[in-house]
This record gives sequence, C-alpha cells and structure tokens, in this order.
Amino acid sequence: MNMLSPRIALFRGQDCIVPAHAAALLNDSGRSLSIEPGELTWEPDVLASFPSSPLPSSRFAFDGQTFEAVALPEIPSALQNAASASPSPLPPAAESIPARQLALSFSSRLGRFVLIAKAHAGWARVSRFCGACGSALVDANGRADISEPLDEHAHGARFCPACGQLFFPRMSPAVIVLVHRGGKILLAHNVRFPGARHSLLAGFVEIGETLEEAIVREVREEAGIEVRSIRYVRSQSWPFPDSLMLGFTAEWASGEARPDGKEIDHLDWYGPGEYPELPMQGSIARWLIDRFSAGELPLS
Ligand SMILES: [Zn+2]
Repeated sequence: MNMLSPRIALFRGQDCIVPAHAAALLNDSGRSLSIEPGELTWEPDVLASFPSSPLPSSRFAFDGQTFEAVALPEIPSALQNAASASPSPLPPAAESIPARQLALSFSSRLGRFVLIAKAHAGWARVSRFCGACGSALVDANGRADISEPLDEHAHGARFCPACGQLFFPRMSPAVIVLVHRGGKILLAHNVRFPGARHSLLAGFVEIGETLEEAIVREVREEAGIEVRSIRYVRSQSWPFPDSLMLGFTAEWASGEARPDGKEIDHLDWYGPGEYPELPMQGSIARWLIDRFSAGELPLS
C-alpha cells in the first residue's frame, strides 16, 4: 500500500463530485473566490463508498501536491442491482457540480485545478486497456521496467506490461478562430448550441493537418469563405472530453459568408454592440470576442 495516498478528485460524467461543505463555500459569494482546490477533494477512504473498485484513476501534481482523479461510472453500478432499494451512488454529504462551472466561474487557480483533474479523470476512463494487445494497462510513473525514464511531465502515462507499449494522455487539438472583416466578426450558431447563442467557428484538427490548414478548411466548410493573415493568440485546455483549444484570428479574404446548413444553421458579421447571445464568460471564444471589442487583439 502506498503510505502517502493522495486526496481524491471525484468526477462522474461532466460533473465534479465535491464534499457538501465545499459546495456550501462555493455558494457563499463572500468566500467562493478564496476556496482552495484541495477543498474540492476527498480523503482516500471515500473510494470505499463504491463497490465497483478499482475505479479508473490517474495521479497528477498540482502546486507540488499529488492528487488522484477518479472517474465514477456514469450509470452507477448500484442502480444495476435488482434490489428495489436504490442506494445513493454518491458518498454521504456529496454534491454534484458541473465541472465547466467550476472551471470558469471561480478563481483561475481553482479553474486550473478542475481542468487538470477533469482531464485526468477522463483519460483514466478511456485508458484502461492496451490498444495494441488488449491487456490491462498500469500507471507508468515510477516503473522500473520502462527503459525510458519518465519525469513529472509524464503524469497519466500508461504502460502495457504485456507488450511494452507506452501511452501518453490523449489530447485532441481543436482550432477556434475569430474571423474579422472591416471591424466586424463572424459569429455562427451551431445546431448543437442552446437557444440563439452564437460563437466563433471552431473544429478539430484532422490527422496530418497543420493548425493553419485546419482553420482554412473549417472556415471554408462551415462559412464558405477564404481567410488570410492567420495569427495565433492563445489556448485553453478544454477536457470535455479532451480538447486543447487553440485560438486564432484570421482576416476575411474572399467569398460571401453563408452557413453550411449542416453544423451551422445561421451566421453573420457583427460589430461590437450588435452581438447576439454570446458564449459564457471564461471560454476562449468569449475571451477572443471581448478582446476584439476592446480593440486589444493584434489584428494584422
Ligand atoms: Zn499491450
């Protein structure tokens, strides 16, 4: 047994499961900004609450302290029992809070912790078996049978004891681009967006593509226009489930914007003061839009 069992960050689906006292602090506007990341976590013995152990887990470091992110089954195994009584799938005094809300609505330190922990929980859930031979994987950190030494940057790495394959946490790069034309920006309504929310065009980078090629392709596919002067601005980890959002600006070059009718059902050019409903504060899309409105983006 590990003498130094780390505290546990619990996730189920898109939610972070936090102790009720932490939820109370988050609801207290006077104290919510000072809550420490560790207060969202649990003593290691919380795992005894769950019958289906071992649960997928992944260790990570945050500000010099080790934590373990654990992914609970989305359909709790307790509910699959035939017993008429349905025991709570959560430990006593637990509350479920959307990880997005935790990541975006409180302090940036808390947000960073939740994004890292959520990413590890998600990776743990999908990295249980070797993609090459199907054997069960183990946490690769500190294993003597791995020829290449791993360092602290290899948190989450998985090792296959049967065939030696090493797996690093998966991230799916996605580009998001603020396309501008004469003081206006292109905002689009994706068919998956709630209500009338409009946002910047975005899409996953395809295998073999550069980031710039992905932007040109996405904008061409979704809006039917060509862009130029592509500039990288900033990025955001977005582990829902495993994206790394890479934010760019681009200048309209040619063509008349029109929605593709599949992913995008409406789009238009909007100037500051004319915007429709926008993405939530804290998202990279909103950050780019707000910086544009404030004249703070380096548009070439
Ligand atoms: Zn294998």
